[in-house]
Amino acid sequence: MDRRHFLRGASAALAAASSGAWAATDPSSPPPAGPAAPPPRAPLSPQFAPPAALAPIRARPDRIVAISSCTRPFRAQGPRIEAERIGRKTVIHNYGHGGSGWSLSWGSADYAVRLALAADARELAVIGCGAIGLTTALVAQRAGLRVRIYAKDRFPDVRSFFATGVWSPDSRVCTTEYATPAFEKRWEEMARISFRRYQTLLGLPGEPIEWRDGYVLSDIPFDQPLPARHEDQEPSYPSLDSKLLDDLSPAAVPLAPGEHPFPVPHVARYSQMTFNISAYSRLLMDDFLHAGGELHTREFDNPRQFSDLHEKVLINATGYGARALLGDDSIIPIRGQTARLIPQPEVDYGISWRGHNLYAVPRRDGVLVQAQSASDFNNPDDTPDRAASVAAVAKLASLFG
Ligand SMILES: Cc1cc2nc3c(=O)[nH]c(=O)nc-3n(C[C@H](O)[C@H](O)[C@H](O)COP(=O)(O)OP(=O)(O)OC[C@H]3O[C@@H](n4cnc5c(N)ncnc54)[C@H](O)[C@@H]3O)c2cc1C
Repeated sequence: MDRRHFLRGASAALAAASSGAWAATDPSSPPPAGPAAPPPRAPLSPQFAPPAALAPIRARPDRIVAISSCTRPFRAQGPRIEAERIGRKTVIHNYGHGGSGWSLSWGSADYAVRLALAADARELAVIGCGAIGLTTALVAQRAGLRVRIYAKDRFPDVRSFFATGVWSPDSRVCTTEYATPAFEKRWEEMARISFRRYQTLLGLPGEPIEWRDGYVLSDIPFDQPLPARHEDQEPSYPSLDSKLLDDLSPAAVPLAPGEHPFPVPHVARYSQMTFNISAYSRLLMDDFLHAGGELHTREFDNPRQFSDLHEKVLINATGYGARALLGDDSIIPIRGQTARLIPQPEVDYGISWRGHNLYAVPRRDGVLVQAQSASDFNNPDDTPDRAASVAAVAKLASLFG
């Protein structure tokens, strides 16, 4: 997830404010600060209580139980999903999903499996066992194929395990110049397929997938631009989500002072689909094995070694690993780091503090706090930087007094 995705909530909040679409709340609250004062709101219906107080996040460095950093497999052109003949094998590539791999996984898998079926596959080898490999394997099984996964690592030792875990289908998925109408069409189809699949995974034991509230905070009105930001040193990314998927998620709602506990003048509440990656990755793996899937530990040094495999059709879902395996320099590493605080089940909301590079996500396995740096782009270094996470946690703590 990146800040642009969170700020979509803020801009949606602003759009809601200017169209007068306000939530019914305590009528005694003063109107929000900012240039565009909202129209008066209808009185609160007596049968509804005011919103409950939010449980504070216990943001202290000594509560950090894990810090992980890894690289997003970014391609300016977007994910590579296409068939190639390598020796006597048909290899369908499915890699390069940037910061949106979890979000697009099911739709991307659908595309890749269609290509495998077109190649007359009955048995399929999937190389890679991250978010993309596992979902591809499951979609192939449902299409009636016998599937073996070959991978160097499996959960929890794959990069996918270290993602933030939110619906962010356009996060660093391509650059603006490559967002052609054809790309947008394919992206939208992938995103909608994935979104539909995720709604079938709600309400399951362990809550692998759930919807959570979040609060976007801003020191300045949402319609005022921020000073120079980390992302400004990165390429320009298209805002595909707000352009093409506006009907999928609820709009953010601006809140007046008194309607939230945060010591920040501008606040809006959004809803966000969250992936509890520990539980979710286990569910995916269990489903794959129950459907007769096989998982083999195997590392490939070069694509010629694909000829060792029994299957004639392969799907290459090696993520960032494809850079070395295929010598594909179009994959650019974008470093990301997250710290996990001891789980607080009572904390059921996320936070994005605009202009402060602060993001917190309420996962079941802990409150996730992202740390971003100006040197993340094209940075393959996945050594955790504890000081950066401690600083992010301290910033989070400043919101709780
Ligand atoms: C900090 C951070 C936060 C993120 N947050 C989100 C988010 O909130 N939402 C979202 O949708 N996305 C998010 N992403 C992006 C998402 O995590 C990636 O797009 C996704 O994990 C890519 O999955 P993958 O299966 O392609 O790669 P991987 O998880 O890296 O899996 C690759 C697999 O291929 C195997 N492999 C690689 N090379 C070889 C080889 N030579 N031989 C054999 N096997 C090999 C590996 O062992 C592994 O099994 C985030 C990424 C980062 C870094």
